[in-house]
Amino acid sequence: MRPSSVSIGNKTSKGGTNTHGQFRPKSVNTFCPFCSSKVTFSLVNSNPTPMPTIWPAQSTCPECEESVNFIVYYTKQDGNSSVADISMFPAPSHLIAPVELPEKLPAALSSAVRDAEAAYRAGLYSPAVTCAGRALEGLLKHILREKDTSLYKLIDIFCESEEATKPIKKLSHTMREGRNVAAHFDENIIPDQKSAEIMIELLHYLVSYLFLFSEKAEKLSTKLR
Ligand SMILES: [Zn+2]
Repeated sequence: MRPSSVSIGNKTSKGGTNTHGQFRPKSVNTFCPFCSSKVTFSLVNSNPTPMPTIWPAQSTCPECEESVNFIVYYTKQDGNSSVADISMFPAPSHLIAPVELPEKLPAALSSAVRDAEAAYRAGLYSPAVTCAGRALEGLLKHILREKDTSLYKLIDIFCESEEATKPIKKLSHTMREGRNVAAHFDENIIPDQKSAEIMIELLHYLVSYLFLFSEKAEKLSTKLR
C-alpha cells in the first residue's frame, strides 16, 4: 500500500526567503508521485495563517500538472528557526522513507546513511549504491571497533560475534515477555495501545529479518550476477 505521506529530508529544497520568522524554501527537487518524473516543485503557501513550527505548502508538477502537498517542519535552536524536515503527500510509490537513526550513532555514520538516501532521492543510483556500501562498512567498523579490516573480513567477524545475535535475542525475548503478560492475567498490568504497537512493530521486524531480508538480498544478488 502506498504511504499517504513521506519524509523527503531537508536537503531536497532550493532557495527561499524568510517569512513570518520561517525560512520558506522556494522549491523542492524530488520525484512526482503521479508521473514519477524527477522535477522541481515550486512551493506556494497553502495556509494564510502563520504556524510557528510548520509551513504547509502546495505545488503542481511541471510535467503532469497534478497537485502535490508539502509540509516543511522547523526546529528552533538558540532562537533561530531552521528547516528540520519536509514531507510530501501523496508519497511517490518508489520513494524510500529515511530510516530513523539512533541518537547515539556517531555523526559520521548518520551522514553516511543519509548520503545514501539523499543520492537515491536525487536519482543518482550509482552513488546511492556506493554510499550504502560505505555505510555498511562504517556501521560494522563502529560495532566491532575495527579500523583496518576489509569489508569481507568485517562481515565474517560480525557474524561470529555476539553483536549479530544480540538484537534478535532481545527482540524475541521481549515479545515472549509481552505474550506472557497478555496471556496470564495480572490485575496490575494491562496491555495498552502503546504496548500493542511496539509488539506489532517488533513482529514486523522479526518477519523482515527472518524472511524478507534474505529474499531481497537474493534478488539483488541475482541482479548483480
Ligand atoms: Zn508529475
